[in-house]
Amino acid sequence: MKKSKSIIPIAYPDFSGNEKLYLNKALESSWISSKGEFIDKFENDFAKYIGTKHAVSTSNGTVSLHLALEALGIKENDEVIVPNLTFVASVNSIHYTNAIPVLVDINKENWNMDINKLIKSITTKTRAIMVVHLYGIPSDMSKIMEIAYKNNLLIIEDAAESHGAEVLINSTWKKVGAIGDAGCFSFYGNKILTTGEGGMVVTNDKKLASKMRMLRDHGQDPKRRYYHPVIGYNYRMTNLQAAIGTAQLEKINSLLSFKNKISVLYKKYLMDVPGIISPDINYEVKSVCWLYSILLDTPYPISRDELMKKLKNKGVETRPFFWPISALPPYKSDKEFPNSEYISDHGLNLPSGYNLTEKDIKYICDIIKNEIKN
Ligand SMILES: *Cc1c(COP(=O)(O)O)cnc(C)c1O
Repeated sequence: MKKSKSIIPIAYPDFSGNEKLYLNKALESSWISSKGEFIDKFENDFAKYIGTKHAVSTSNGTVSLHLALEALGIKENDEVIVPNLTFVASVNSIHYTNAIPVLVDINKENWNMDINKLIKSITTKTRAIMVVHLYGIPSDMSKIMEIAYKNNLLIIEDAAESHGAEVLINSTWKKVGAIGDAGCFSFYGNKILTTGEGGMVVTNDKKLASKMRMLRDHGQDPKRRYYHPVIGYNYRMTNLQAAIGTAQLEKINSLLSFKNKISVLYKKYLMDVPGIISPDINYEVKSVCWLYSILLDTPYPISRDELMKKLKNKGVETRPFFWPISALPPYKSDKEFPNSEYISDHGLNLPSGYNLTEKDIKYICDIIKNEIKN
């Protein structure tokens, strides 16, 4: 995947570790489908890293969400609460179970689900809350776990954008994904860790893990070949993906510190630009930087979309924030979501790839600053 030198991409993977070595090992072993040494190794290493008893690998992050919901017994007419600002896969996975996604507005300060609005959206049909840790910023899990406990609700964490982020809960630091009943991760090419396509569900519940292993393998009874007591799926990860994942996970700390360095530099170079807003979090978290994200508002002189165009013309790839789910045709809603709409309109993701240099960051920030002078 050669990219033209003149373009600074939004994301770029790092394969400078043991990725090629392990991938070749997997190829030479002839185990290229969903059996092989790297599957078990990646699952065990990932569970250990996140701090859960079990990890179940899957073919991508979207199906990891569906697998968790299905194994937790979410079904038709159940209500599952989900933030209105997220990647569409969070909500689609709820739809796949025939449950009803109940959209909740986000908080303008930390971009995650608004706790008061979350409480108000609970009904007698609510079964679960899908918490999304957006752009690497953990949600307020202490409060959410308390609400879940009081109302007897299941918690599924969508941690697809926040590998390694932590929250302080009952005075201990815990990694996101390890707090709720199940935590789901994505290893898509632009994520913090990648296996090309891939996903993982982590949990401390042994029965849930077994159920997920069964469902991801066509519902096959693990003790009786070709006997399928339930309808399942083919949601398995391949040994090739797991080989890459094992190598990626070995260097997670250096990957995260690289991402942290990026965000420190962006902050430094954008510090004095009026109208550039960073998230403000008033609970104890250690965020990670998936894509460095800012809001643009007055007195910044041009709109988010205008700035994106200018950056594109100068070879800088950016992304607008997600659309509010309520603005997408399948999930169109008349309810008002003022904060999701505001954040969606003003939010911008800046290049955050593992090939980014300080020079690149300075170049990008100079383009952003230049608008002020004109
Ligand atoms: C990427 C992502 C997913 C889906 O992961 P895939 O591996 O692309 O299927 C789900 N939720 C969120 C919030 C994501 O960012």
